Amino acid sequence: MKSLFFTPGPSQLMPTVEEHLRTAMRDDIASYSHRSLLFTKLYEDTVSSLKKLLDIPADYQVFFLSSATEAWERAIQNCVHTTTFHLVNGAFSKKFYQMAGELGKTAHMLQVEDGEGFNPVSLDIPDECEAVCIVQNETSTGVSIDRHDIYAIKKNFPDKLIMLDIVSSAPYFDIDYTFTDCVLFSVQKGFGLPAGLGVLIVSPRAMETAARNRAKSLPVGSYHSFHTLKAYADKMQTPETPNVLGIYLFNKVIHDMLDKSIAAVRRNTEVKFQMIHHFFVDSPKYHLFVANTALRSATVTVAEVEGGSKPLIERLAAENVIIGSGYGQYKPTHIRIANFPAHTTDEVKHLLEML
Ligand SMILES: *Cc1c(COP(=O)(O)O)cnc(C)c1O
Repeated sequence: MKSLFFTPGPSQLMPTVEEHLRTAMRDDIASYSHRSLLFTKLYEDTVSSLKKLLDIPADYQVFFLSSATEAWERAIQNCVHTTTFHLVNGAFSKKFYQMAGELGKTAHMLQVEDGEGFNPVSLDIPDECEAVCIVQNETSTGVSIDRHDIYAIKKNFPDKLIMLDIVSSAPYFDIDYTFTDCVLFSVQKGFGLPAGLGVLIVSPRAMETAARNRAKSLPVGSYHSFHTLKAYADKMQTPETPNVLGIYLFNKVIHDMLDKSIAAVRRNTEVKFQMIHHFFVDSPKYHLFVANTALRSATVTVAEVEGGSKPLIERLAAENVIIGSGYGQYKPTHIRIANFPAHTTDEVKHLLEML
């Protein structure tokens, strides 16, 4: 029997993926060359459809990479000469920070307790920091950052590039991209697809910065430098043989969402979040990890389970309902529940009844 996955990524696949996979096999999608007309048309349509879905400005670049982790590296490598600044409130934002150090950058951070947020007004970011790196939805703890806080940071620090991880909130998260410079996600979370594809959305300003850094002979990478990515993107191609099947499925799911309208997809996420949130607030057995109601993520709910989370996770798994354990140090005590577009209202009801 098939299981129902509420894990925060990889997660439940979109219900249409099976049919799209069958069509891909029928149409030989995985055998066509990535230099063929078929691929360039797929590339062009995927980029333009994603721009339509998320309202990405026409002059922004969309690059296909292998994962969100790769996108962190490419963003820092191409756009940062010496120094980054990071908002850290959990394991993913911490990893983003550590990566900057591994790339030889001086990384500053403002760290708050796990599960807490940031006050954008009181941020003190040293002048030498070129980029502010933010994980909008911290998947390890279930905290989200309001888009208005991101606008405030960009307004207060207009000379700094905003690097924004929306891995576990896309496509639900809605932002005016003109306030951002490198926005990244991978497709195995909110897009309900198999893993193996990362997406990086780059502003003209970040492209110019990357070109300047390359001209200074900084190590901006080789086949996935912004320079090379753009040279191929201009031809509707990728430098390497990409995950063509992944791009194909991504294209199909974007069209499924456009058919429903992104507003409807987002509304449905909110309706399901209200159900999940009410349940946890009312249940004495569980304690939501994020204390501040306004900071609770709509797409990843993290709760502490009295007596530990393992027996609960096992009980649900025996009924083919798979939920996430806590992340890192919280593994034995927390559960994490994803609320992605692939989850129907009835499936969420079923989960809550079992909980
Ligand atoms: C899952 C996740 C990542 C890593 O994504 P990969 O596709 O595995 O590289 C990065 N950031 C956040 C917030 C995540 O939830």
